[in-house]
Amino acid sequence: MTFSVQGLPVARGIAIGRAVLVASSRADVAHYFIEPARVDAEIERVRAGRNAVVDEIHRLQQSVSQMGPKDAPHELTALLDVHLMLLQDEMLVSGVKHWITNRLYNAEWALTTQLEVIARQFDEMEDEYLRERKADLEQVVERILRYMKGVALPITPPTTPHRKTQQDLLLDDTVDVPLVLIAHDLSPADMLQFKQSVFAGFVTDVGGKTSHTAIVARSLDIPAVVGARSASQLVRQDDWVIIDGDAGVMIVDPSAIILAEYGFKQRQGQLERERLTRLRHTPAITMDGQKVELLANIEMPEDAAGAIKAGAVGVGLFRSEFLFMGRTGKLPDEEEQYQAYRRAVEGMRGLPVTIRTVDIGADKPLDKSQKDGTSLNPALGLRAIRWSLNDPAMFLTQLRAILRAAAHGQVNLLIPMLAHASEIRQTLSLIDFARAELDNRGVPYGPVKLGAMIEIPAAALMLKLFLKHFDFLSIGTNDLIQYTLAIDRADEAVAHLYDPLHPAVLRLVADTIAECNAQGKGVSVCGEMAGDASHTRLLLGLGLRSFSMHPAQILAVKQEVLRSDTSRLQPWAQKVIESDDPASVLSA
Ligand code: PEP
Ligand code: MG
Repeated sequence: MTFSVQGLPVARGIAIGRAVLVASSRADVAHYFIEPARVDAEIERVRAGRNAVVDEIHRLQQSVSQMGPKDAPHELTALLDVHLMLLQDEMLVSGVKHWITNRLYNAEWALTTQLEVIARQFDEMEDEYLRERKADLEQVVERILRYMKGVALPITPPTTPHRKTQQDLLLDDTVDVPLVLIAHDLSPADMLQFKQSVFAGFVTDVGGKTSHTAIVARSLDIPAVVGARSASQLVRQDDWVIIDGDAGVMIVDPSAIILAEYGFKQRQGQLERERLTRLRHTPAITMDGQKVELLANIEMPEDAAGAIKAGAVGVGLFRSEFLFMGRTGKLPDEEEQYQAYRRAVEGMRGLPVTIRTVDIGADKPLDKSQKDGTSLNPALGLRAIRWSLNDPAMFLTQLRAILRAAAHGQVNLLIPMLAHASEIRQTLSLIDFARAELDNRGVPYGPVKLGAMIEIPAAALMLKLFLKHFDFLSIGTNDLIQYTLAIDRADEAVAHLYDPLHPAVLRLVADTIAECNAQGKGVSVCGEMAGDASHTRLLLGLGLRSFSMHPAQILAVKQEVLRSDTSRLQPWAQKVIESDDPASVLSA
């Protein structure tokens, strides 16, 4: 039966494919595709894990049988029998083999996927006793996973998508079928793992439009919907699903008519994209001759290739924290970071690269274990520059690596989330210290322009101080909106209040641009607002000439730039920001 689920649109376009459910309760297992040659080895890893648990239960049974009847409760013996039975269950074994062989899931993913399939069947059982066996099954799978951890391969996704070979292996009914990802939640690091993967679209139950998961999804340039509440509960493995990334809707089990309609929309979208690619080499100049800089936001050095392909004239925001995530506490050392930054710089072929120092915390935990809930308000807690200043050795390592990369091209150094004069002072002295350390070691490094992000209202209200110390400012609207309006950007429950056009937000953005322009200092916007073509004219009218966004958004924004006349936009933009209801002036 066809039904739809409403969420928030985060990345445009239509995807049609079969659902791949990532089990929410086991979200901390690795999810990656294996090479076809590894199928047998992955099945063997599960088998070995299962055998180890069977042995463990046998040992337990033996010690139980040696106890007196008083010490060995009947329930325990029965429980161990149930666990053994579940371990031998054909559905678990054959299902896991299916996901590994036909979908090329890694062993842990296959196991948790099959757990989800069986758990749903338990949920639907009438018999309460049987229904409760679900918990036993979960325990058994948990134990297998624990055993497998010891023999798990390093968790790295394949470097190249292997769609063809994977499809060769798929069963007849799944040949050529795109896959769409449905999950309760995905961390930004999870999303990064999927970056090289074959998914045609994705939906999550939670998340706001500018949550970091949504931001990474946008960089994948696939249709995506977040905040779809119970989507992952309603969809089953392998269901047919349509994801409408424009409307923020997921349609499950669509009828033939609906499929045909969305198939048509999908083709229209593809034609529109193809049309836009013609603008790739066109310089971004407004009708009245104003040159506009369209830069790329990237997460990994390898993203530089996509930035160049999209016609970016540099990187306006390299979110370096993605190099630090999912490494179970072992942070990248100076050499590894230097090589990564250098790859990004060289990948941009002489164009400028703005590297932001690490912004860990809030919805970007280092790894899953850091998401421990001990911080009451993570977004207001130890995050970004606060985290760096809290660990000067780590910060100095990063600063040295960035300064060294600057010897290979034009590098700007950007600091996130500054708010206090003391933070500015400490940061600047650590940068000097990092240079001195490199001098002492005789290691070459290059000059960098220094920039600060304006993400906290306090910073936007003391621009003069910032401009005294920094060469340029970059407005992080995602956080500036979050902190001005007190709306957690990752919380879908308050997503309707997250408003880039709130007069207070626009006032702070407008003042920052105006002050920088007045002082002849560089200013750009690197939050999601910069990549939303419906805001391009307003930002141009406020005097912005530098926009940084995901490469996938560059051409649509360029189209707006080419159609704009800033001399006419300027008075109109003033009207917009002075209005109590800017959205209505904008759409009039
Ligand atoms: C922002 O806050 O707008 C920004 C660009 O930084 P991030 O989204 O990584 O917090
Ligand atoms: Mg930010």
